[in-house]
Amino acid sequence: ARASALAESAGPGATKDGHRVPLLANIGGPKDVEAALANGAEGVGLYRTEFLFLDRAAPPSDAEQEEAYRKVLEAFPEGRVVVRTLDAGADKPLAFLPPPGEEPNPALGERGLRMSLRHPDVLAAQLRALARASAGTTAKLQVMAPMVTDAAEAAFFARECGKAGIDAPGVMIEVPAAALRAGDLASEVAFFSIGTNDLTQYACAADRQIGGLAHLQDPWQPAVLDLVAPAAAAGVPCGVCGEAAGDPALACVLVGLGVTSLSMSAPSLPLVRAALSRHTLGQCREAAAAARTARTAVQARDSARGLLPGLD
Ligand code: PEP
Ligand code: MG
Repeated sequence: ARASALAESAGPGATKDGHRVPLLANIGGPKDVEAALANGAEGVGLYRTEFLFLDRAAPPSDAEQEEAYRKVLEAFPEGRVVVRTLDAGADKPLAFLPPPGEEPNPALGERGLRMSLRHPDVLAAQLRALARASAGTTAKLQVMAPMVTDAAEAAFFARECGKAGIDAPGVMIEVPAAALRAGDLASEVAFFSIGTNDLTQYACAADRQIGGLAHLQDPWQPAVLDLVAPAAAAGVPCGVCGEAAGDPALACVLVGLGVTSLSMSAPSLPLVRAALSRHTLGQCREAAAAARTARTAVQARDSARGLLPGLD
């Protein structure tokens, strides 16, 4: 009850002039739902399903998957729940689905949808479990694929979703090639969600697992903003679910670039909600333009913040 009262008083995400930006939570499973609700999440923008698959010798049963998905859907009867299909490989290796050979650069290896292409049975089982979990619940289920590179992969995913009875599928935009050719992908799917963690890693060629490269793992890099812009302008709803969405100033910039929803770890929701409510869409657009004009990440952040006076 306390959680739902807090959620109500928080209200939906919007700019000062009333431009709606749904604020959603990133979760790893049903155990994270409570914190999402307590921080006023309007739904789930990224359900990382790989936690269901990690640390085990065999995939979870269909029934086990269905139960986990249903629990999350039932927690947001009036909201949306964006579920990402298995994103295994690289920083999330799976014991029962090893890559076909030695991978000297796992971040550039068989991960995300690439693994689903080699194991379509695993993807099909997951999609069937999602369709069954969604039947009888009122939340809006949206399913998306990770690590999609081109329109052919997006089309493959859309076909698999269709076979399972899941409509309006989406893809994550986290590979620079996908961002640059966002228009091609937009003709295959119904929505995008930008994964700024990987998009930054790949744009700046800086492994996200190497702490010493943190200065390059910065989504304020103007090159990253230049990749967000075409994805946000491609004509399908485009959220952001990477860490960037939880940075209050960057959240305003992303909205200024045309992003339509923001998904973040639950504790960031109140700060981002407050930041948006203190700035108009026009101010967000001006901050976005200033950030893209900058030449470095530091300058981008400074110039955007200078145009967003209502930040703490
Ligand atoms: C991302 O890459 O930004 C993202 C949201 O996915 P993950 O961090 O799970 O790779
Ligand atoms: Mg990612």
